[in-house]
Amino acid sequence: MSAKTIDGFAFSRSGSELHAEFGLKDFDRLADVLVQSEFSAYPSLSASLIGSRSVDGRSYVDVAVDASFPMVCQRCLGVVSVPLVFQRRLELVRSDASLPDEDIDDDRVDVIVSRREMSVKELVEDEVLLSLPMVAMHDDCVALDTSGE
Ligand SMILES: [Zn+2]
Repeated sequence: MSAKTIDGFAFSRSGSELHAEFGLKDFDRLADVLVQSEFSAYPSLSASLIGSRSVDGRSYVDVAVDASFPMVCQRCLGVVSVPLVFQRRLELVRSDASLPDEDIDDDRVDVIVSRREMSVKELVEDEVLLSLPMVAMHDDCVALDTSGE
């Protein structure tokens, strides 16, 4: 199927596109924040990476993800399915020295160091971890009853 790694600058320069599917169990770090016993009930996560270059020579990779994640509801401790559809822009730079000193205001752009072999799975996992809510809750949780305060 698709490549497991991308060459960062080459990917953006050539305007490459890549689509990949992952099982939730493929993500080691995500497993810590998700309800693993529910994984078999969840469809694969689909992700796409699109490379581009701006006219002023900046290199970008846009990471888009569409999936749902089983998390623990912090009110009733049941499983809540958290849908996540997002697109984030990564700006590739040559070295740590090029990383901005301060957080840039636009939090939709993450700056990372480009490498010749960048793991697609890790790029996707990083962005999912940043995008998942810290605390998950049912929209209409059964623990929110009408018994008052
Ligand atoms: Zn709940």
